[in-house]
Amino acid sequence: MIPYGRQDIRQADIDAVTAVLQSDYLTQGPVVPRFEQAVASHVGAGYALAMNSATSALHVACAALGLGPGDRLWTSPVTFVASANCALYCGATVDFVDINPKTYNLCPKALAAKLEEAEQEGTLPKVVVPVHLCGQPCDMAEIHALAQRYGFRVIEDASHAIGGKYQDEFVGNGRYSDITVFSFHPVKIITTAEGGMALTNSKELAERMELLRSHGITRDPAKMTHEPDGPWYYQQVDLGFNYRMTELQAALGLSQLERLDDFVARRHELARRYDDLLANRPVVTPWQLPDTYSGLHLYVIRLDLSRINRSHRQVFESLRELGIGVNLHYIPVHTQPYYQNLGFQPGDFPESEAYYREAISLPMYSGLTDAQQDEVVAALDKALGL
Ligand SMILES: *Cc1c(COP(=O)(O)O)cnc(C)c1O
Repeated sequence: MIPYGRQDIRQADIDAVTAVLQSDYLTQGPVVPRFEQAVASHVGAGYALAMNSATSALHVACAALGLGPGDRLWTSPVTFVASANCALYCGATVDFVDINPKTYNLCPKALAAKLEEAEQEGTLPKVVVPVHLCGQPCDMAEIHALAQRYGFRVIEDASHAIGGKYQDEFVGNGRYSDITVFSFHPVKIITTAEGGMALTNSKELAERMELLRSHGITRDPAKMTHEPDGPWYYQQVDLGFNYRMTELQAALGLSQLERLDDFVARRHELARRYDDLLANRPVVTPWQLPDTYSGLHLYVIRLDLSRINRSHRQVFESLRELGIGVNLHYIPVHTQPYYQNLGFQPGDFPESEAYYREAISLPMYSGLTDAQQDEVVAALDKALGL
């Protein structure tokens, strides 16, 4: 089976993890801060907080922005459930903004229209979470302008987009958002097995997130209610969580980071090859927003079902049978049973649902060879009945 995504592990990664295993600290040692520093300086962010997953980072990001009961968070329906669930963890409510049919990202025009309506009804969101689907950056300048006008905060879910660029600058530098979140799950661009990171340029937000990721406990006397009782002393000053990343994970991440730019460059080579190989097939290949460089976590095609004699499901199943581990990113979140129970209904976000009826993620990872890619395209031809 050729999977849709796969980690790239080399001897250098194994050596880095082994060295930590033989060191004094498996957690809360010097490697996590080094990894944070390295990612922050690579993407141009002021502060970085490593966590045990992007889901944890999204939760802590929402909490640090003060999202709570009575507040609203808006995101795209075409994302992993974690982009929306983070609001529910905080007791806030979720709503969605439909996608742009070309970029598959949250549509800034739909966002503007929904904000105008919400302003009149007094239901403006506190936080909006644009998701850089497949690694393609959202139109952040436009979303930022709306944030200024309507007073909401922005968390970029950049789980797919580390190494990508918007207007010639790395995603994660925070020029147009309050916080950016990366995921280091093995199918993502670089991995720490499980892991994630929140980046910000705000010292205050960084300090809040640092506190919340570790039980709400501080060892900084300046943040305590009174002088420390002694050298052993710490204080719990808020209700936090145990969302820390281990030293083993950080060592793997630090080692992977050295190859990040190569990984993304190889993904671009593969995408160009797919674009060429698929040019005359009844499929829509990815469209790139001008002035962006995708992280290219995923390569999604949409089937032109009017020109194909088979159903979406048949094509998908044939590909799996032919040994191609295709996937579908994503089932629109508002159609999940949990969200239907919250009142969402099929038909609420038609562009997202139309995308879901046609989308297939083809294999895309830096270790995919040209020969394997040719195999994928040959299998697709068969599956399409060409
Ligand atoms: C993978 C992913 C997440 C969650 O990442 P974890 O590190 O697995 O918690 C969140 N949002 C998106 C868009 C993702 O793809």
